[in-house]
Amino acid sequence: MTVPSVIAACTRCREIADTWWRYGIVDDKTALRVEEFVFYEHLQDDHSGITLMSVTGCRSCEEAETMSQFAMPDLAMHRADGSHVDPARLHLVHHLLEQTAEIAATGRGAGTLISGQTFTAYLYHRSPDTEQHPRCSPDRGHAYHVTVELTAPVALLTEDQTIAFCTAVAELERDLQYRELERLVENDPDRAVNDAYGLARWVHATIVERLADGLGSYLSVRVDAPDAGPGGPWLFPPAVRGS
Ligand SMILES: [Zn+2]
Ligand SMILES: [Zn+2]
Ligand SMILES: [Zn+2]
Repeated sequence: MTVPSVIAACTRCREIADTWWRYGIVDDKTALRVEEFVFYEHLQDDHSGITLMSVTGCRSCEEAETMSQFAMPDLAMHRADGSHVDPARLHLVHHLLEQTAEIAATGRGAGTLISGQTFTAYLYHRSPDTEQHPRCSPDRGHAYHVTVELTAPVALLTEDQTIAFCTAVAELERDLQYRELERLVENDPDRAVNDAYGLARWVHATIVERLADGLGSYLSVRVDAPDAGPGGPWLFPPAVRGS
């Protein structure tokens, strides 16, 4: 993940990023939001050419797109000069800050720490296609080999966060045994799990919820499931091809 060079080169951006990460590590959500607002203003005033990117699989990104199309007077935000604040853009500022660990003093210059965990989940399908899934049954299931890796600047991967990460993975390993794949997520069609890629995406989202803000952008999930069908391994976030 690379930060736009104009931001990496800007002292003020680096200051804001550093403050944001310090609040993130102590999980001070209110201070984080204030800092995001400060960064929003700075980007608008000094780097208006920066394109803000949404993040694949982020539910808030999808919601923010909807929000920006509707006037929500109760939630309207304004800058001190009275100008309107776009809530969708403010959310994307959050994602940009997630990518700034390397330019913040907190993360810069320090090494990278990798915490990796693997486990095997045995899951079966609700309506097995007997051709594709000859061995698919509630007491057998397919083996889904899951590898999760957190690769983050050493200052961010604190002992607390490492423990939170390992605990989340251990709970998943315990819970994902002899379950029906399609029933891992109920009553939420947007997050439905139907295949190995869906499983990778869901495992990613489940662990991210347990980590401090921003740390989720350093998480990757890989699922290998040779007996569940062709293709794979499945990665989330999806691998960027080329370069
Ligand atoms: Zn700047
Ligand atoms: Zn988002
Ligand atoms: Zn099956």
